[in-house]
Amino acid sequence: MNPTSVRITEIFYSLQGESSTVGLPTVFVRLTGCPLRCHYCDTEYAFYGGERRSIEQVLDCLLYTSPSPRD
Ligand code: SF4
Repeated sequence: MNPTSVRITEIFYSLQGESSTVGLPTVFVRLTGCPLRCHYCDTEYAFYGGERRSIEQVLDCLLYTSPSPRD
């Protein structure tokens, strides 16, 4: 296993829908391979698959996915 990379299902920008930060613009990084199987899980599609990306690639993607300060 390469400790400088992670398996990614998706990276996307949306509004936070949970917790004390609900409604705030947020960039989500969804990793692949959660080993738990919560009965209420709504992201079963992320249990398998995904693409391995370096930490540097993830950070680059975050820069391009994040809204600009004027948004
Ligand atoms: S809700 Fe889904 S992704 Fe979250 S810990 Fe449970 S099984 Fe894993």
